[in-house]
Amino acid sequence: NSFAELGLITPLLARLAELDYKQPTPIQAQAIPSVLAGRDLIGGANTGSGKTATFALPLLQQLRSEKSSVGSSKTSSSKTSDKGNFVSRLILVPTRELAKQVADNIKSYAVHFNGDIKVTAVFGGVSVNTQMLALRGGTDILVATPGRLLDLISSNAIKLDKVKSLVLDEADRMLSLGFTDELTALLALTPKHKQTLLFSATFPEQVQSLTQELLNNPIEIQV
Ligand code: AMP
Repeated sequence: NSFAELGLITPLLARLAELDYKQPTPIQAQAIPSVLAGRDLIGGANTGSGKTATFALPLLQQLRSEKSSVGSSKTSSSKTSDKGNFVSRLILVPTRELAKQVADNIKSYAVHFNGDIKVTAVFGGVSVNTQMLALRGGTDILVATPGRLLDLISSNAIKLDKVKSLVLDEADRMLSLGFTDELTALLALTPKHKQTLLFSATFPEQVQSLTQELLNNPIEIQV
């Protein structure tokens, strides 16, 4: 069982080899092909399972293929002309620490994309101005805590209308930390048609109703 067999492209495979990831973890092996194919996912997984790479690698690969098809089309306008303050892939996480860690992981996986993919993290507890500047012109992948993201949306720093994939990481923690209202508000701002991936260590009532509302014919993987 190898990463190449999961359908990942060379710039990602090369990076995984550099990071000395010898083989996919169980959730990676089971989920990556389906996520690449655009399926929704419920992942019952804890920290240490390799869940971050399970969503990060397919999202990067999808972005890469979108960007190369824009670049090769002679009729389309330049890559950045229509960007606005939009985000294409949104990852919601419960804490500032996790936001930084996930963004750092994604940036590390993307090193062989030569800066082609913009990854931004926003979270509370620090000045909002730097984050507003970082979001100018939009971003490809945004890792965010719910409260700060809502603040940034209120000040028009970012818009969710063009989100193509949404990841809820540690959904149970997000709800138990009291982000239910923020989450509801944010989800209402995303397009109805999108890919949604939900990861949670536990599945209490609240998480279950969230998955029912949000996910469309998901594959379910418990590790
Ligand atoms: P996570 O569960 O996403 O927090 O990942 C836990 C740790 O395992 C992180 O430090 C990852 O860099 C590492 N990791 C993820 N997938 C693999 C893999 N297939 N082989 C080796 N290490 C991995």
